[in-house]
Amino acid sequence: MKNKITIIGAGMVGSCAAYSLITSNVTEEIALIDLDKDLVKAEVMDLQHSVPFWGYTKVKVGTYADLRDSKLVVISCGVAQKPGETRINLTKKNSEIIKDVVPRVFKNNPDVILLMITNPVDILTYQVVKMFPRKKRRIIGSGTILDSARFRFLLGEYLGVNPQSVHAYIIGEHGDSELPLWSTATIGGTSIDNFKGMNQREKDSIFEKAKNAAYAIIEGKQATYYAIAAGVVQIADTILHDERKVLPISHYFDGELGIKDICLSSPVVLGREGIVSKIDISGISLEEKTLLCESAKKLKKIAKNL
Ligand code: NAD
Repeated sequence: MKNKITIIGAGMVGSCAAYSLITSNVTEEIALIDLDKDLVKAEVMDLQHSVPFWGYTKVKVGTYADLRDSKLVVISCGVAQKPGETRINLTKKNSEIIKDVVPRVFKNNPDVILLMITNPVDILTYQVVKMFPRKKRRIIGSGTILDSARFRFLLGEYLGVNPQSVHAYIIGEHGDSELPLWSTATIGGTSIDNFKGMNQREKDSIFEKAKNAAYAIIEGKQATYYAIAAGVVQIADTILHDERKVLPISHYFDGELGIKDICLSSPVVLGREGIVSKIDISGISLEEKTLLCESAKKLKKIAKNL
C-alpha cells in the first residue's frame, strides 16, 4: 500500500499542508478534496508545478474514493476564526460539516488514520471518537502541537537556544484554557529554571504570547497556516514511517489523571497504527494537574451541547 494522504478542505490550511508535504517528500501521493471545485482545481495545478523543484509527490484533485488506498486523512474543511473570534465559536458550523464528512471517510477506508485540524479541534476530535468509538486510537487532532511549537520558539529566542533543543509542552485544550508544563520543561537534560533563572512574570509573558499567537496572526493576515502545515508534516511523517515520535496531540482521555470521556492534548507516542502509547504525566505539579482538569471540564461542557 502506498504512503498516500487525502486532505479534505483545500483552503489556506489544507493547501499549505499539501505544499509542505511536497517539499518534505514524505508521501508519494496527495489527493485534495474541497466543495469549491474551482479552488481545488487551481490549488492542485499550482502545487503540481512545484513538484519538479522538490521531488516526486503526485498531487491530484481527489474524491472520497481516494481514501481507499490512503493511510492518512487530514480534515481541514470548514470555517475558520475571524479576527477576535474564539475557536469555540466555530463549534456549531464545523460539527455539522464533520458529521457529514467523517462517515464517508470511514465508509471508504475503515482503517485510515484520521487527523483533525478543523477547529475547535478537541471538540471535533471527540465528536469523531463518539461517532466511531472503536477507532479511538486512530482518531487524533493536531491539538497543542502548534501551541507547543510556538512556546518552544519563544523560549528558544529568550534563552538563546535552538528551539529543537527546547523540550517543553503546552497541553490541554488547543485554545484559551491550555496550560504550559513548566515542571517538565528541560534543555539538555536540565530544567529550564536551572538553565537560566526566569521569574514568574517572564514565564507568564512567554506563555501568554504562545497562547494568544493565533489571535495576533489572524488580526494581521486573517488566517494561520504555515506553522500548522509544518505540524501536519511532522505528524504525517511519524505515522507513515512508524517513527514513534512523542508529540503533544489531541486524543481520547480514558481516566488518565482522573480525566475521562473527552479529547484534549498531552504527549503520546505516535506510529503507523496511530497512538502507540500515552506518556504518563502524573509527575506534573499539582497546579498543572488542576489546570488540566479545568481545561477538560470546560471542553466537556461544550461537548455536552453538541
Ligand atoms: P479556509 O476557509 O481557507 O478553508 C476551508 C475550506 O474548507 C474551504 O476551501 C471550503 O470550501 C472547504 N469546505 C467547507 N466545507 C467542506 C466540506 N463539507 N467538504 C469539503 N470541503 C469543505 O479555512 P482555513 O484557514 O484553511 O482553516 C480551516 C480550518 O482549520 C478552520 O476550522 C481553522 O480554524 C482550522 N485551523 C486549525 C489549526 C490548528 O492548529 N488545529 C490551525 C489553523 C487553522
